[in-house]
Amino acid sequence: MNKKRIVWGSILLGLPCVLLPVLLMGYVAWMLNLASAQQRLETLAAVASSRANGTFQEAAGALKSIAGSHLAPCTPASIDEMRLLTINTFSVKSVGYVEEEVYACGSWGPVGQHAAPWREDFTTSDGVRVSLGVQSRIVPAKPMMALQYAAFNVLVDPEQFLHVMLEDDLHLAVGTAAGQLVSVSRPGAEHFLSRVHSGSHSALEDGYLYTLVHSGDWVAIAALSRHELMQGLLRREMLLLPIGGLFAGMLVLMIVRRTRQRLSPLAELKLAVRNREFVVHYQPIVSLDDGAWVGAEALVRWQHPDGSLVRPDTFIPLAEHSGLILPITDQVIDSVMRDLGPLLVKDRSLHVAINLAAKDVSSGRFLPKLEAALRQANVQQKQIWLEATERGFVEIDSARTTVNHARALGYLAAIDDFGTGFSSLQHLQQLPLDVLKIDKSFVDNIDQDAATGSVTSHIIEMAKSLRLQIVAEGIETEAQADYLRGRGVHFGQGWLFGKPMAAEEFLRVHGERMSVLSEQNAQEPAVC
Ligand code: C2E
Ligand code: CA
Ligand code: CA
Repeated sequence: MNKKRIVWGSILLGLPCVLLPVLLMGYVAWMLNLASAQQRLETLAAVASSRANGTFQEAAGALKSIAGSHLAPCTPASIDEMRLLTINTFSVKSVGYVEEEVYACGSWGPVGQHAAPWREDFTTSDGVRVSLGVQSRIVPAKPMMALQYAAFNVLVDPEQFLHVMLEDDLHLAVGTAAGQLVSVSRPGAEHFLSRVHSGSHSALEDGYLYTLVHSGDWVAIAALSRHELMQGLLRREMLLLPIGGLFAGMLVLMIVRRTRQRLSPLAELKLAVRNREFVVHYQPIVSLDDGAWVGAEALVRWQHPDGSLVRPDTFIPLAEHSGLILPITDQVIDSVMRDLGPLLVKDRSLHVAINLAAKDVSSGRFLPKLEAALRQANVQQKQIWLEATERGFVEIDSARTTVNHARALGYLAAIDDFGTGFSSLQHLQQLPLDVLKIDKSFVDNIDQDAATGSVTSHIIEMAKSLRLQIVAEGIETEAQADYLRGRGVHFGQGWLFGKPMAAEEFLRVHGERMSVLSEQNAQEPAVC
């Protein structure tokens, strides 16, 4: 359940982590592309409008100079001057002189033909009259721009107004400040001349990104079609998307690593401690003389949210290694008092054996917690046996301090799994102990007549000589029980007497045993 939630959480987190960097890079590519395109268009439009103004000023300057000439119009000298002006002025195609609708002469010589007046489109502030789209005799195939001042005029090729270097993908149009088209490089941009009254600006409209720049009486519009804009975007995305992909990959990697950490056994155990997922089962400890239950060993189990139980061998080593055993011991103490506290108060001869790990023993940290729990449950210290294996006593000095302190308070100290380690005897000598628990491996060998059988009897003799109470663990057969009873072992624990049980079952079985016992007592005749 938890695992599923973690995996789904990671997938849900992973999706935006993949999408966001890619989308972000897509957005950055678009913005960069737009900014760079705008920059290009602005530069082009500014250069083009200033060139257009320059072209016009040059032509207008030439026109005014001829109009201001002291030579009489249409004299050979004046025609020469007109011709010279046409040759020397790049933008001027021809110069003409018109008097009373008669084209009297031009830079090509005397003419003397009727000339219909041109429609004037606008007049500049210094009096130059401008006509667009003029059909002239000089260049009949091409509409020209005519500038008139006094009786003189000059014709200018409108293409001169586009005299800039133009890259293939750009569209350029030059018009008047009133929005009339003068010349266009590639169709497209002229459409935006209608926006001329809204000042210099840039926008993405009608399938084009365009920029409009004014200069004098002229306006230049540079534009880029959406298709060309997209080409640029594609180029930028090719550069930026791999970076987005890299970021996404890194984020996904981080999520995978974090998920794996969260799904690790240690993370699961941490969660279990936080959610208090531990329950305690109780295995009866019996008197081998009469089979009476004298106590129980508290054995922890990890109960998963789905109800399944995990045996301690699976998680205790990890808990010990990680230090999580300390809060687990605390939870065991709480459970013992909650489960068996009332029974221990009712029957003061009963005890509960609690298992301690090396960290518990060396730190002694559990003692204040145990004291408080006992006080609250009204349980006596002598009813609690504290068990630790040899590994639990490995830090011998601090272990001795804890054992001394615990015994001074009234608890009983037991060495568990005796005989399985290298230094069991050393611990017996160095620690003040009350109980010795013979490991199951020795009990197993009893009825097999193995060499360890004699070791078992030596352990028993040694424990007796040290005046220790003896518990034999893992008794499964009557023969084992008989042997141990015969050797004077006081207590036994094992499947022969009862498996570890949940608290309710333990209390139920104990209650049944007690009522059978009291019935037997009632039936026995009183001895006078
Ligand atoms: P242990 O302290 O030696 O506990 C006895 C183990 O032997 C228990 O296993 C018990 O179920 C099992 N056992 C008892 N009688 C028999 C029998 O007749 N036959 C067989 N085959 N097995 C029997 P369990 O409950 O799996 O506990 C395993 C170990 O986990 C314990 O060994 C103890 O070292 C550790 N442990 C259990 N509870 C705690 C705890 O609360 N704290 C700490 N630190 N360790 C614990
Ligand atoms: Ca034990
Ligand atoms: Ca044991």
